[in-house]
Amino acid sequence: MNNIINLQGISKTYKSESRLISVLKPMDLTIQSGEFVSIFGKSGSGKSTLLNIMSGIDSCSSGRVIVNSTDISHLKAGALDAWRGRNIGLVFQFFQLIPTLTVLENIMLPMDFCKTIAAKQRRTRARALLGKVGLVDKENKFPAILSGGEKQRVAIARSLANDAPIILADEPTGNLDSKTAMRIFALFEELNRQGKTVIIVSHDPCTRDYAQRTVTITDGEIVSALPVREGNSYV
Ligand code: ADP
Ligand code: MG
Repeated sequence: MNNIINLQGISKTYKSESRLISVLKPMDLTIQSGEFVSIFGKSGSGKSTLLNIMSGIDSCSSGRVIVNSTDISHLKAGALDAWRGRNIGLVFQFFQLIPTLTVLENIMLPMDFCKTIAAKQRRTRARALLGKVGLVDKENKFPAILSGGEKQRVAIARSLANDAPIILADEPTGNLDSKTAMRIFALFEELNRQGKTVIIVSHDPCTRDYAQRTVTITDGEIVSALPVREGNSYV
């Protein structure tokens, strides 16, 4: 089995004045290549912190973070950014599209940053990714005129820019109505079928219907990391 994400004894503690605040208790978590995992828990339980540790956006206070065979705890800032661009596609609750760039330019941005795709191919590739999320007719539009669901589809296309094997999404449907949210979950499911390892953080119980495995966090602790669901019940 290929563990694409391997967290060994990670924890996160913040120092506030003279007090130590434990946000993640020491934990191990492995995710295999090709899995679709949801990380589920109440607001403030530590979901974003865990996801940000996986991507190297945040550092852990102890433990080792091995992602796609690289121990990212040892990477310096610049190397870490370059590594993240090639290995991880990120999707956020508030889309984080650049308002002054067109839809197509937003999708091309990570390609320009990583330079793994030849300059001549970037525009064609961005169009193909826009096709994948069903928005070819919007390539020259600016994000402001798009609906929330359309913005998130553009952000998902952008997360695929460098063909990273892992997609990490933090509350990707947190700002969408439930019908649009279901379309977004279905799109992640489709990407997972096509081979991406997908990890979605959410406090929406709906994610559990799409993911193969749900990791539940309470107060910074993994309380269950259920395997594949059976029928409509969770075992
Ligand atoms: P979730 O994504 O599940 O809502 P977070 O990972 O964002 O949870 O936060 C977990 C806990 O860590 C929260 O109680 C939050 O207040 C705390 N926290 C996050 N960032 C900091 C920080 N920089 N300093 C102190 N506490 C923090
Ligand atoms: Mg969060």
